This record gives sequence, C-alpha cells and structure tokens, in this order.
Amino acid sequence: MKSINNLPMKKTRIFILIIIAIIICTLLYTTSKRWETSPEEKIIVAASIMPQKEFIEAVGGDKVKVIVMVPPGADPHTYEPQPSQLKELSKAKIYFQIGSGIEFEKTWMEKLKELNPNMKIINCSENIKLMKEDPHVWTSPRNAIIIVENICKALTEEDPNNKGYYNENMEKYVSRLEKLDGEFNQTLTEKQNKKILVYHPAWAYLCRDYKLEQITIEKEGKEPSPQTLAKIIQEAKKDNIKIIIVSPQSNKQSVQAIADEIDAKIVTIDPLAENYIENMEKMLQILKGI
Ligand SMILES: [Zn+2]
Repeated sequence: MKSINNLPMKKTRIFILIIIAIIICTLLYTTSKRWETSPEEKIIVAASIMPQKEFIEAVGGDKVKVIVMVPPGADPHTYEPQPSQLKELSKAKIYFQIGSGIEFEKTWMEKLKELNPNMKIINCSENIKLMKEDPHVWTSPRNAIIIVENICKALTEEDPNNKGYYNENMEKYVSRLEKLDGEFNQTLTEKQNKKILVYHPAWAYLCRDYKLEQITIEKEGKEPSPQTLAKIIQEAKKDNIKIIIVSPQSNKQSVQAIADEIDAKIVTIDPLAENYIENMEKMLQILKGI
C-alpha cells in the first residue's frame, strides 16, 4: 500500500530531476559557447596608415581585427579608398585617426563618418605637440609611445572586461619603444653632424626629438627648381653630407643628380612600413652613418 501511495511523489521527483538536468545542460552549452573566441567576436577597428596596425595589434592582440585604409605602398598624401574598403569600414567600431592633418584624413574623414555614424573616432595624436603642416607624427618613437597609450585607452573604454590584457600588452610594447628611444638618443647625441638630407620630409618629428636638422629635396610635394637644387647641393657639400634618405613613394629624379654631385649614397626607407619597431631600428642604423 505504501509504495502505491508514493508513486505520484516518485514521478514528480523524476520529473524535477529531468528539468534540473536540462537546465544544467543548457547552462553548460551556452557558457562553453561564450568561451569560444570566434573571429566574429573580435573588435573590428580601422586606422589610416600601416604603422598604426602594429600599434593597435600590439595592444589589442587577438581581441582586435584592424582594417587599414591606406594599403602598403600607397601614398597617404594622395590615396583614395576602394569601394570594398568602404564596405568593410561599415563593420568598424572604432576609427583610429592619426590626427595630425594627413591629406587622406582631411579629404576622407567626413565621408567615412557618414558611412558609419556609430563608429567612435579616436585621435591618436592627442597629447602630442604637433608641428604645423607636418603630418608625419609617428616617425618619432617618443610620439609612438603616446599614440600607443591613446590606443590602449580607447580599447579599454570599448572593452573594459579586457582592461588588464590591454594594459599588460601596452606596457610590453611601450618598453620596447622606450629602449628604441634610448638607442636613438645615445647614438645621435654623440654625432657631430646634425643634418640629414631627405627627399620627402617625413622625419621632422624624429629630428625634433633627437636634435637633428632635416634638409628636404622635395618642396611642397614637387621636384625642386634648378635654383633650389643648386642651393641644396651647395649646403650638402658644406656640411659634408654623405647619405640621401628617400622613401619608396618618392620621386627620385633629382636624387640621383644630387648624389652624383656630392658623392653621396642613396638609402631607401619607408616611413609607412607596417613593422614599425624593426623599421625604426633600420632608420637608426642609417643615422649611425651620417
Ligand atoms: Zn609623407
């Protein structure tokens, strides 16, 4: 009699157990789903130039995907984005503007904002003392440190759960930049010659930070006039300049003429290279020879 009386009670217990099992299974499934980091869960961000890609990836690691608007080899003074790039940009959460007045941003920023009005705009040059009419702010490691700090702040605001991860990454990368800064400082303070001859005026910020003087061959984006060319040759001879620094994007017609005239070596370095630290080490080696 007792067991028959208990039967509905037993059924209820089994029913409750089944429900609990279903709940546990559902919870386990959804949590495990959340822990999987699929590529779609990366924060998509955009930037103008290639060096920013290394900066953003150094801080954001595997939590970010970077879209660069001016691709390798293209010139940010003249580049126009492709329709496929504009389509990709619509997925970006943040746009990291270089913010120093580069032509690409002057021409395109308003249009890019219209295409993706929800995209947060971050000025990477915030807290950097800008030089008038010179957008090449990233070419000094000291400025790169500030740019990386601005990137870290923005990523942390966007994704506060990973604050520790971003900060740790930033500190590691900044310590490499500080080492680079120390090397530039040491090498260049010992130099007697403080003048560098460059085709495209990309290195003024580097010169400001390490007390060099940049003589430029290109004038306002154009080849120099014969008079200017003669003046440059005269100055280079007087200062015993033995190296001419050119960027791959530069027009080099006048460079060979000057090199022949003053018996200088032409060295090519890309101020827009993606591998920033490695490239700046290369610049340091070049400057050791001035
Ligand atoms: Zn430039």
